[in-house]
Amino acid sequence: MLRGRTAEELVAAAALNRSALKRFAAAIDAADQHIKVEIAAYASSIGIDVPHEAHTWPAKRILRLAMGRQGKARKRRNPIMRDDAFRCIHCGADVAAGGRTVRDHCPHCLRSVHVDVVPGDRSAGCNGVMHPVGLSRSHGDDTIQYRCARCVAAHQVIVHPDDDPAALRAVVNLPPI
Ligand SMILES: [Zn+2]
Ligand SMILES: [Zn+2]
Repeated sequence: MLRGRTAEELVAAAALNRSALKRFAAAIDAADQHIKVEIAAYASSIGIDVPHEAHTWPAKRILRLAMGRQGKARKRRNPIMRDDAFRCIHCGADVAAGGRTVRDHCPHCLRSVHVDVVPGDRSAGCNGVMHPVGLSRSHGDDTIQYRCARCVAAHQVIVHPDDDPAALRAVVNLPPI
């Protein structure tokens, strides 16, 4: 059951439930100690403080240590494409979904709401208005730079084909928030 699995996969499999933890721990204890060394290295690579002698521990203990940050290690880094109709929190416009190009801000006033850490994950827990603070180009796309009115978040998004040209021009002359 250990063959071919990376340390990360082993830790994830053992973290499923108590019986999985027990079974994997028993298999690891019965196997070569290098598996524990690998799990210790993996735990350390995701920011866990791993004692020097950890690879000599019973497998259950070192698995538990490595599982401590599983949630963090699993935090998504890839964006989720979401394209929903919404009413703009800033100007009140009813905005349709973007269609071929995902809509992540109001095409009239360009504002959006701070809801994502990674695009689409809805995990920011802020809900502040994101104000446009500048325009630039990134990887060949025109982008709008945003700053959140409620917290320190800042990000940039690609200009949508429907964005109001006058609103885009105005961004250049906006006073800093
Ligand atoms: Zn708006
Ligand atoms: Zn915010």
